[in-house]
Amino acid sequence: MKYEPVIGLEVHVQLNTASKIFCGCSTRFGDEPNANTCPICVGMPGVLPVLNREVVEKAVRAAVATNCEVAPYSRWARKNYFYPDLPKGYQISMYELPLAVGGRLEVVVDGKPKTLRIHRIHMEEDAGKLVHGENLGDPAHSYVDLNRAGVPLIEIVSEADMRSSAEAKAYMEKLKSILEYLEVSDCNMEEGSMRVDVNISVRPAGQEKFGTRAEVKNMNSFRNMQKAIEYEMARQSELLDEGGRVVQESRLWDANRNVTVSMRSKEEAHDYRYFPEPDLVPLLVGAEWVERAKKSLPELPDAKRQRFVSSYSIPLYDAEVLTADKPVADYFERTVQAGADPKTASNWIMTEILRVLKERGSELGRPPISPEMLAELLKMIRDGVISGKMAKDVFAEMEATGKNPADVVREKGLVQISDESAIEKSIDEILAANPEQVAGYKGGKTKLMGFFVGEVMKATKGKANPAVVNKILSKKLSS
Ligand code: ADP
Ligand code: MG
Ligand code: ZN
Repeated sequence: MKYEPVIGLEVHVQLNTASKIFCGCSTRFGDEPNANTCPICVGMPGVLPVLNREVVEKAVRAAVATNCEVAPYSRWARKNYFYPDLPKGYQISMYELPLAVGGRLEVVVDGKPKTLRIHRIHMEEDAGKLVHGENLGDPAHSYVDLNRAGVPLIEIVSEADMRSSAEAKAYMEKLKSILEYLEVSDCNMEEGSMRVDVNISVRPAGQEKFGTRAEVKNMNSFRNMQKAIEYEMARQSELLDEGGRVVQESRLWDANRNVTVSMRSKEEAHDYRYFPEPDLVPLLVGAEWVERAKKSLPELPDAKRQRFVSSYSIPLYDAEVLTADKPVADYFERTVQAGADPKTASNWIMTEILRVLKERGSELGRPPISPEMLAELLKMIRDGVISGKMAKDVFAEMEATGKNPADVVREKGLVQISDESAIEKSIDEILAANPEQVAGYKGGKTKLMGFFVGEVMKATKGKANPAVVNKILSKKLSS
């Protein structure tokens, strides 16, 4: 039997406010355990939460940027469960009346556009973190760190619209890109500020009704998410083929063994005993607020991509790559503004600059080579000062030292020889020294052209302008 996967994603994103959602504690990552805590976020009895307005501001921006309808009236709810990293015994979240509903993301998968719908967005507080003693040389104990307790999150729940792991990846990439453009989250998956639960079921091709889903919890990279989806597709299809049944459950991705493992039977909403949070008033977001948020949106990735295609005449593919990351898009525009040809700049950024960013870690935000420096390098190629091949060496030196291209070229004596009389002199010498090859060429062995070019380059230590060399050689050899 042929099966089709059905995938829905629940994404948790940490908003980058300075303080927590219901108290004034810092949200800084990496501080001493429990340094950023107070009676409110550790859940002492009798304390009262006070909503951080900035959290709502950022959540509303995320909602309008993903084409959601912001609810004029929404309500906080208690989600009750026991876990050592949740001393209150409940998480303040939203349930029946979420902040926003009904959004969508536009993605391109295998060259085809597709709309992936968002079911809802709500706000909630994060829980703490358990640190297991094995990692601290103390296997007998586990420790509770509540720095993360009360850090603001939004949960973005998609509709079950995705039909492949590639579509799930495209959804995540577009969502991440938009949230980064909005500057509402750093979306750092390694530090856990963006996490995704994958819901996946399979159904026989052609069947309308969804199959029973499994939920793979807390994936912290796109790669693992895709691998988990592929694994579940195979596992569930095989199970059905053998006459078995998929059980609705939560599973964990084991990144060492590349498998998902059963964690617990899926909790149902009623297990959480949700009820309206009595310590917080309902949330009213007026139409003016939503309007203001819409007006203040920056140019988002899709719009920027269109503009790059129309104003810089670069291919759609280039524009898609360049605009996925706002710092990269800005880098491209600054390079062009500094005088570089757009397509040449795009080529260099998509290869060399993205490689540098990847090697050095994108958290550095920008490569050690400024857009102005790259533009200067590209102009030196265009003006024939250096060859494209020399430019790669100059670039490597710029990357290592942060020096300007002009300085590197001068120090290394890399300047290309374009002076025709100097090149002609060298060519005359080589032709005189190789009469057999000249005769061979004139007798039809045109492949010998490569030999002559090579000799000239050797004689000039690679500095001769290849275009000029070719021109003069052709002229001399055809006469
Ligand atoms: P919860 O997991 O908290 O119970 P929901 O029932 O709202 O929440 O579903 C969560 C996610 O699972 C949504 O993205 C939804 O689209 C997706 N989903 C629901 N049913 C299925 C299914 N049969 N197969 C795949 N995904 C599903
Ligand atoms: Mg779920
Ligand atoms: Zn606190």
